[in-house]
Amino acid sequence: MLEDKNQSRTSLSELGEFKLIDHLTKHTVIHHKDSFKGIGDDCAVIGQGDIQTLVTTDLLVEGVHFDLSYMPLKHLGYKAVMVNLSDVYAMNGQAKQITVSIAVSNRFPLEALEELYAGIHLACNTYKVDMVGGDTTSSTKGLLISITAIGEVKKEKCVYRNGAKPNDLLVVSGDLGAAYLGLQVLEREKQVFQVNPNAEHELEKYTYLVERQLKPEARKDIAKLLADLEVQPTSMIDISDGLSSEILHLCKQSKTGCQLFEDKIPLDQQVISTCEEFNMDSTTVALSGGEDYELLFTVKQEDFPKIKANPNLSIIGHMTDEPDLIQLVTRGGQKVDIIAQGWNALA
Ligand code: ADP
Ligand code: MG
Repeated sequence: MLEDKNQSRTSLSELGEFKLIDHLTKHTVIHHKDSFKGIGDDCAVIGQGDIQTLVTTDLLVEGVHFDLSYMPLKHLGYKAVMVNLSDVYAMNGQAKQITVSIAVSNRFPLEALEELYAGIHLACNTYKVDMVGGDTTSSTKGLLISITAIGEVKKEKCVYRNGAKPNDLLVVSGDLGAAYLGLQVLEREKQVFQVNPNAEHELEKYTYLVERQLKPEARKDIAKLLADLEVQPTSMIDISDGLSSEILHLCKQSKTGCQLFEDKIPLDQQVISTCEEFNMDSTTVALSGGEDYELLFTVKQEDFPKIKANPNLSIIGHMTDEPDLIQLVTRGGQKVDIIAQGWNALA
């Protein structure tokens, strides 16, 4: 038996998710040369050859990451795959295989798990990914689902979080904030329903938001789009925790600062109108919301003409040579420090 000599107790919430990972992994020893990139990016990168293997894993826990009272199991299965594929695409790679592990209590009938797997199969067929294994076990309470995705990328095409340089342009795919608002809409409906089970659901005006929350799509298309435009990003990350948190990751790892322009942040019309209705600030929602699964990346200034008119991409800022200044430039021209208010799993 290993003895636990450490008698002191430190609360995990004091540390937060990222400091906890740093703390637990700081003594990690790498034994193999072909563990090319270990902890710290969207995927681990394995192999030294021309084509490298990408590996990423995510764990989703009932009551923490999803609420089955409004998350249909088929959607959960689909989303659990997307969350992982998104990390492969964030390395500029292509996903090829997944493994799926579940822990399930006997509260779930077979039919429920069939629904979960219908969603997983739909995702695999749509994204041309093969399910090649997994594990099944019981849990005392609730459902846990853990997916590992495996992908590949040409060595010279692989994009890390740490390659941004001062003056590079900061670019994001799609639009931001909708998934978070979708969750707010669903939470509100749930409360209305708890008070009055016969209440009419009023979701029509929020279809885009709810879809972004319940059926997100990972940006498989961006690697090809950038290759066609002959643009090689200098750094990249996927937006799972919110724009501010991901910008801080890129800056910290690339040792750059950043100026993000509030008026450039892409927002869908439903995000704007729903923020007005809910009395929320759309910039805060985009910065802190999370679960958008868009890609955030940097490109060289000289690539500006190749991407400026692309409807899939928005240039939202640029990197600077001042690592201590990671700022939002507001519509009024004020400069405000960007802080991570993104999703903290341990808060
Ligand atoms: P992402 O948001 O892209 O899924 P995370 O923030 O979960 O990434 O993880 C950051 C890095 O830390 C990744 O390289 C991940 O593999 C690693 N990591 C996370 N949790 C652990 C853990 N418990 N043990 C070892 N490595 C971990
Ligand atoms: Mg990621």
